[in-house]
Amino acid sequence: MHREIEKVWAVHEMDARLLELNTTLQKLDNGAAAQAALTNAEKELARLHEELTAARVALNDAEVSLKANETRSEGLQKRLYGGMVSKQAEVEAVEHEIADLKAKAGVLETTILESMDAIEAAESAVKAQEEVVQKWKERVKTIRAAYATSSGELQAKIQEASEKRAECLALAPETVMFTYEAIRKRTKTTAMARLMDGTCEGCHMQVPSFTIMRLKNSTELTTCDNCGRLLFLEV
Ligand SMILES: [Zn+2]
Repeated sequence: MHREIEKVWAVHEMDARLLELNTTLQKLDNGAAAQAALTNAEKELARLHEELTAARVALNDAEVSLKANETRSEGLQKRLYGGMVSKQAEVEAVEHEIADLKAKAGVLETTILESMDAIEAAESAVKAQEEVVQKWKERVKTIRAAYATSSGELQAKIQEASEKRAECLALAPETVMFTYEAIRKRTKTTAMARLMDGTCEGCHMQVPSFTIMRLKNSTELTTCDNCGRLLFLEV
């Protein structure tokens, strides 16, 4: 086997390490999903606050209207029983208005009770949602802290491996590296694979014996017939 290939193998080992480190880095949870859940929880909380405000406004409006209704009704009754209304038609009109006010007061009282129930329900929904928001806030904080630590460690390892790769690359033969990079571009992962027990470690396929013979005896570069990676025989 071409012994210069060992120097290319050294580059490959660093590339395989970098690939693994970058994959691990990409898989790390950076908290984006938890942040999205937090944003949704906060939106829901805002919606519940609006619901609560609307219920409080409805209660206030009904109370004000009921108060005005009572004042008007009391005034009419004073006129009626204070003898200020004498004509029959006028008595009937006042009595009619009092009855009308009474009916409206009944509706307003129902609205007040319903608003009170709505406020109570909205208050407890707000309280529960505040807890949900708080939980997500803590979760985002925890995930981000873990991400900062893990990604920092990985970045340091990536930096170290990149430096090591540059050192290995300086020693590797340029012509083989040209082929190596072409294969790497095609596989999008690795360009070399070890031959282990007659199998290519890149694609895990059996390597034909004539290919193994060539790998052992020739100084030519030997590639896996299946995946096209440069085969490497450890000695
Ligand atoms: Zn292969």
